[in-house]
Amino acid sequence: MEDTIFDKILAGDSPADIVYEDDYVLAFNDINPQAPVHVIVIPKKKIRDFIKLQESDLQDIGLFFQMVSKVASSLKLDKDGYRIILNCGKNGQQTVEYLHAHILGERQMSWPPG
Ligand code: AMP
Repeated sequence: MEDTIFDKILAGDSPADIVYEDDYVLAFNDINPQAPVHVIVIPKKKIRDFIKLQESDLQDIGLFFQMVSKVASSLKLDKDGYRIILNCGKNGQQTVEYLHAHILGERQMSWPPG
């Protein structure tokens, strides 16, 4: 698998505005924010995309989603709510081939998404 910008951030080879880190995940501010809070969360154990979750360890998947929830709480988004986005592939407009959750908050979202 080719290195993506998120591999480089994780390796410390590219700068990022890190908001949370532990043994399992890294969370940093999106460089092109779409809401007042826009944070990207990646699992440290690389998974390419949502499709690859089918081959991934259930504990790793569970930990990832639990940590996304914890990061959102640490950003003080629980009271008003927030949106989690996982883009997959071309139609999903995934631009970075490294599984990541977007946490968007502090504005009212609309539906359907664009
Ligand atoms: P996606 O389109 O779901 O693959 O999302 C990739 C996200 O990564 C986009 O929202 C980009 O703005 C964001 N992004 C790309 N490069 C960086 C970077 N160096 N630091 C932070 N966020 C980035």
